[in-house]
Amino acid sequence: MSECVFCKIIVGELPGTIVAETESLVVIKDIAPRAPIHYLIMPRKHLSDMNALSSSDLKLAGEMLLLARDLSQKVAGSPSFRLVANNGAAAGQTVPHLHFHFLAGGDLPSF
Ligand code: 5GP
Ligand code: ZN
Repeated sequence: MSECVFCKIIVGELPGTIVAETESLVVIKDIAPRAPIHYLIMPRKHLSDMNALSSSDLKLAGEMLLLARDLSQKVAGSPSFRLVANNGAAAGQTVPHLHFHFLAGGDLPSF
């Protein structure tokens, strides 16, 4: 999507720190981290949020979860991590490109 910040980071039109990528997913550092490790796991293809997922995205959705698990071991060296997905403005979503917040790297505040 032409005006989407995350789509622009994915294709290199805007700067962003990419920490991992696969054929279908990109992981970037959050610009305003709220945990020692705060990444954003997102699909390359533009989907506004989880409401835009369809049954044809089952593989993609599963890959997002497994990538989070793998990141936890690789970058945090621990199986402890938190995933957050804000869906819709009323839930706090500010960038309408589907993403999981991946939070790790220490004792996270209780939720
Ligand atoms: P949301 O509020 O939609 O759940 O999460 C959006 C996240 O994207 C926020 O945590 C915010 O800090 C991050 N963010 C917003 N703009 C940029 C940007 O240009 N680059 C990066 N790396 N993160 C961004
Ligand atoms: Zn997008």
